[in-house]
Amino acid sequence: MKIKLIKVGKTPVDFDVTSDEITFKGYLEYDSGKLILLKANLNGFTLCQCSRCGEEFKLEVDEEVKFFICDGVFDSDANIDLDVVESFDSTADIDELLNSEIELIKSDYHSCNNCKTE
Ligand SMILES: [Zn+2]
Repeated sequence: MKIKLIKVGKTPVDFDVTSDEITFKGYLEYDSGKLILLKANLNGFTLCQCSRCGEEFKLEVDEEVKFFICDGVFDSDANIDLDVVESFDSTADIDELLNSEIELIKSDYHSCNNCKTE
């Protein structure tokens, strides 16, 4: 699912995509300058590897995600307290954003249920 940034105004544009067992549901809303706010929830399960024993297991995901999408090069002097993702084709590729969020979660430290019991 791709959303053209030019179509995003003060009225939020909803999206709802699913990858494997994770749902990414939220909205885009125009903020200021070249910035579009993305606010969404990640819900579901993803397979990830236990940092201790190396076994794959299903991790439950329930996270709120909030960042800016910048239409073009982001002026890093701007005073922003959120992460900024640059878009160079003036679209927000929601599937791609979801995939990178999942990769981010997987790259964190996680231990499976067997390893959690000390
Ligand atoms: Zn483990």
